[in-house]
Amino acid sequence: MNESRVVILGGGMVAGYAAKQLVELGLKPGELAILSADTAIPYERPPLSKGFLAGKETEEAIRINPEDFYRKRGIDVKLGCVVSAVDPLRKRLTLKSGGEFGFNKLIVATGARPRTLEIPGAQLRNLHYLRSLDDSKAIQRSAENVKRAVVIGGGFIGMEVAAVLSHKGIEVTMILSDDRIWKRLFSPQMSSFFEWYYMSRGVRFAKNATVSELRGAETVSSVVLANGQAIACDMVIAGIGVRPAMEMLSNSRIDIGDGVMVNEYLETGSPDIWAAGDVANYEDVLFGKRRRVEHWDNILGRFIRRGPSRAPRRSCQQELQCVVAASETAGGRLHHESSRR
Ligand SMILES: Cc1cc2nc3c(=O)[nH]c(=O)nc-3n(C[C@H](O)[C@H](O)[C@H](O)COP(=O)(O)OP(=O)(O)OC[C@H]3O[C@@H](n4cnc5c(N)ncnc54)[C@H](O)[C@@H]3O)c2cc1C
Repeated sequence: MNESRVVILGGGMVAGYAAKQLVELGLKPGELAILSADTAIPYERPPLSKGFLAGKETEEAIRINPEDFYRKRGIDVKLGCVVSAVDPLRKRLTLKSGGEFGFNKLIVATGARPRTLEIPGAQLRNLHYLRSLDDSKAIQRSAENVKRAVVIGGGFIGMEVAAVLSHKGIEVTMILSDDRIWKRLFSPQMSSFFEWYYMSRGVRFAKNATVSELRGAETVSSVVLANGQAIACDMVIAGIGVRPAMEMLSNSRIDIGDGVMVNEYLETGSPDIWAAGDVANYEDVLFGKRRRVEHWDNILGRFIRRGPSRAPRRSCQQELQCVVAASETAGGRLHHESSRR
């Protein structure tokens, strides 16, 4: 059985920045393994709907650490490695490919997965979701030879993809379930500014609309709305939200709900197991409530310190010092105070 003192489950943004920080804090070769379902070493996801999708940034440019960083530091990165179960008592991960992987300290950083359409035609080619590098590349390829695209969803993914496709000269229709764009976040004034801006560049909107069906032979040729309207298109991108990726924890007795339930120090109730990033539902002492935030700044900057000052913590990197401190402490508890400076 393979094993490592510290294991990061997930090879996304948390993993990339955690590895960097752990190295700065004196990680020794052979002490860290990253088990990732992804096909690429940790990269920044924001460019996938912006510069990378537009062809302005390369794969190399969006890597969090250079390719040889992991090899040189003796970090074992296992790509295409899906973890199907976590056993906190035996400190073992079950791999989908067979076998187990042992850990002493575990950081669960499995992020989130796109919500998918559950409607007739959802199996047709040219329907895309966007979470990974491979998804972004697939959208780029599809966009090479199309004239019309439908973007389902008016949140940040929908808005950014619509902007990039429109820049490529593709006629874009955005389908919004609300009466205005990004209603959840924008004021009415902001929505109307962005709608005006997008329309002035040729983007059309279908508002208060529900998609009931995708039609086509092998690829999507039209999107049908609940009111019967059919919008002809050559490709569809659905940006309709995400769900925390945590099915591997379902029989682990680790507390899950809308994300992995952790305290303000990202500790789960199981000793030596933390959760961070999009999957973590954390106790936010500043706002006095639980939150799960899908934002890169959540990884780098949202961590806050307990105690009288309640000053915002500077970064996730400080938080990750806790993990290191814990792994070097006989009792395995965190040295919060010393790692906060
Ligand atoms: C297109 C796009 C644009 C974005 N733009 C912005 C932006 O402009 N600003 C912003 O703040 N945020 C943005 N975000 C959100 C930001 O990227 C996330 O907050 C961030 O990636 C979360 O990092 P994470 O490590 O928690 O999860 P992720 O980066 O998603 O990494 C999760 C990792 O876990 C792996 N994994 C999942 N399940 C398993 C399993 N069972 N076994 C093994 N590995 C597994 C995945 O393969 C992946 O490697 C964007 C996201 C996307 C997709």
